[in-house]
Amino acid sequence: MEIKRRTLLQGLAAAASVLPFATAAEAAETSAKPGKGRKVLIKGGYVATVDKTLGELPNGDVLIDGNSIAEVGKDLRVTDAEVIDARGMLVLPGFIDTHRHTWSTILRGMIPDGDFPIYMKVIDESMGQHYRPEDVYAGDLLGGVGAINDGITTMLDWSHIMNTPAHADGAVKGLRESGVRAVFSPGIPITPMTLNTPDYVADIQKKYFSGSGDQLVTLGMSVRSADAKTYDGCVADMKFARQLGIRITMHVGVTTAAIRGITKLNDANMLGPDVTYVHPTGISDDEFKMIASTGGTLSSAPVAEMMSQGGFPDVQHWLSFGLRPSLSSDNETRVPSDMFTQLRALLMSDRGQDIARAGKEKRRSNLLPLRDVLSFATLDGAHALGLEAKTGSLTPGKRADVIVMDLSDIKLIPINGDPVATGLLHGRASDISWVFVDGKVKKKNGKLANIDLAHVRKVVQGSHEYLTKRAAQEAAKG
Ligand SMILES: [Zn+2]
Repeated sequence: MEIKRRTLLQGLAAAASVLPFATAAEAAETSAKPGKGRKVLIKGGYVATVDKTLGELPNGDVLIDGNSIAEVGKDLRVTDAEVIDARGMLVLPGFIDTHRHTWSTILRGMIPDGDFPIYMKVIDESMGQHYRPEDVYAGDLLGGVGAINDGITTMLDWSHIMNTPAHADGAVKGLRESGVRAVFSPGIPITPMTLNTPDYVADIQKKYFSGSGDQLVTLGMSVRSADAKTYDGCVADMKFARQLGIRITMHVGVTTAAIRGITKLNDANMLGPDVTYVHPTGISDDEFKMIASTGGTLSSAPVAEMMSQGGFPDVQHWLSFGLRPSLSSDNETRVPSDMFTQLRALLMSDRGQDIARAGKEKRRSNLLPLRDVLSFATLDGAHALGLEAKTGSLTPGKRADVIVMDLSDIKLIPINGDPVATGLLHGRASDISWVFVDGKVKKKNGKLANIDLAHVRKVVQGSHEYLTKRAAQEAAKG
């Protein structure tokens, strides 16, 4: 089938003229941010800690003190805390997205019917070329704020839009302003621009990440894939990341599988616990063993994988090697980025495959437990990002990355015994009432808080107008 790039771009340009931006004034929230030591008691909710020791508390309290979780228990007696009445609500650790090309958030929904070749042509090879630093800033700001709105408190920004060093400045600025906890992971640009070596990452580290490492935004590295054309670059990038002491994230799609790139890396002694393998759908059993034995982690973007020749995520197969996946959204040009979409897609993919296998093997199917999927979306994500000591579960001493879901909406009642099932299977991002990132209130009573939304809209509008013009010019070229 011919790829109708021109038609797609024309569609975008036309859509921009009939879909004006919302003009309603959104006053910046001016309420005071919680200071160090300010206490918030989330009281009487169904608390699913995702901490093996603490388990779930049907009528539990979570005490936040400053930027940390101070206590989790029943009937906590605290007199000097602001109290959030969480009765009828579900209290969870914030979700964690371990792979998102946040820069492309400005191109949200641009290719609704695009398969992977269209994605590569329109987004990476065409629009990506036009991206300026301010567009990366706009994308990361919008993506970070959108993530918080969806209850995603931590994400890895897989930033392969580093056309110039200033593009990294834009990404860091956008992530920091958004207030999300993020691992900024720059890489070699998607198309050859000025940065065809990873040397600039050392400058970024000096410029922004030479502190204690206890910042909300930290540094990782997106390396080139172990594919036929980029294998040597992959090895060079991995060595460079290790010199800088930062974690590695790597796409391992069908092109890596084609040359058994993971086997080659294993033979070269390059695998390790600092590597996250993204899109683990084309990996051989021997390679899963290599990843498991070297302590590597997986990131599955279920919808993107099913739409990109990667096949269906087969979680029970991964688990058989002792590999627990984390979850990711990939990008918003054709996939919704909220965690409900990802975790349900993973659940359905795995259950569907096992039910089909069970039919052939004349056995009962083994349904992937929902609690496992909750862990993939939280604690296993923290593990994949090297942030397990800091986030991923409601454990005293960890940073207060907490979300509270209101389960009273008409689509959620009645709760048949399991608020986690109600929240994860039937809930939506709009049911998330409160979001705390590092103890700071980022969403309050269902509305984003302490973020200047009027500013975000203005930034997005400026970038969108510019990119729309570029899209129209590309369409004119044909
Ligand atoms: Zn990706």
